[in-house]
Amino acid sequence: MSKFWSPIVSTLKPYVPGEQPRIANLVKLNTNESPYGPSEQALEAIRAAASADLRLYPDPVALGLREAIAARYGVSAGEVFVGNGSDEVLAHAFAALLKHDEPLLYPDISYSFYPTYAGLFGIEAIEVPLNAAFRIDIADYRRASGAIILPNPNAPTGIGLPLAEIERLVAEHPDQPVVIDEAYIDFGGESAAALVPKFDNLLVVQTFSKSRALAGLRVGFAIGQRVLIEALERVKDSFNSYPLGRAAQAGATAAIKDERWFETTRGKIIATRARLRSELERRGFEVLPSQANFVFARHSGHEGQALAAKLRERAVIVRHFAKPRISDFLRITIGTDEECARLVAALDEIL
Ligand code: PMP
Repeated sequence: MSKFWSPIVSTLKPYVPGEQPRIANLVKLNTNESPYGPSEQALEAIRAAASADLRLYPDPVALGLREAIAARYGVSAGEVFVGNGSDEVLAHAFAALLKHDEPLLYPDISYSFYPTYAGLFGIEAIEVPLNAAFRIDIADYRRASGAIILPNPNAPTGIGLPLAEIERLVAEHPDQPVVIDEAYIDFGGESAAALVPKFDNLLVVQTFSKSRALAGLRVGFAIGQRVLIEALERVKDSFNSYPLGRAAQAGATAAIKDERWFETTRGKIIATRARLRSELERRGFEVLPSQANFVFARHSGHEGQALAAKLRERAVIVRHFAKPRISDFLRITIGTDEECARLVAALDEIL
């Protein structure tokens, strides 16, 4: 608290990002990054962007990147919005689409940035509990009078909803924006981007941070009909007209075009996830069914926080959440097979 602060600053509950520790020989399975380096074509494009042209401002509307994303998802460039990571795209969506006199609905348990944004923009939120199986039940959202946001697959559970259920949710709320946060969709889910031509209330948000292995570049995007995208553009141009630098635009454009790299790496991650799941189950873990690049698992004989601490002593970092219903779980990012083997070896010492 300071006399210099505006009143809202003292009420903010900022998001706490996962740790980026500097420990030698670390197995880093705590922030759902890709264990593989990005597409070589993306790296090449970034290197090429590191030229004297950096003296020039980037394209403020990132047209080349939006065209490349649009081509991949079968929409027009006008139906694509890009930003500095999907966190920024989500922040703009909160600012642009949410009404202050109608509460926002999102799941409890879910991505902890949602309550942070709700607080930042002064929006009342109703948290809708997951059912007993840690699943989102869209019937629980019928009472919504304001906007709805859900991740599909959900985080940190990893559990996905079938596209038919997302469609039902969107169809049931024609007068309210429904934001589907698809940060992890490429690891086994079906994107709702295909529904965009049918529904003017649907905004689909994705990221280059996970399935494109470009978390460090900070690029995210949204797909929706013009009426929603225009709202995001108005917020962006009132905030920072140049959210994406030249290197980010060039790298992301090359990355979205490199289907071969994309299919190979996501296939590897999905295969490793299945192997890790059975290794964990063999050691007595309950593992929720994951469609993401992480698993959410608990062991009846070991408390989550203690287990995370013991793994850390062995230079394996996973994520533990102190929240009541999930405090016995660990969220473990899918690493390479070798990293997962090191995790399992560490568990064998501990259990
Ligand atoms: N949505 C969800 C559900 C996430 O877990 C994350 C990653 N922390 C994001 C959005 C944001 O990712 P980024 O800003 O890197 O695109």
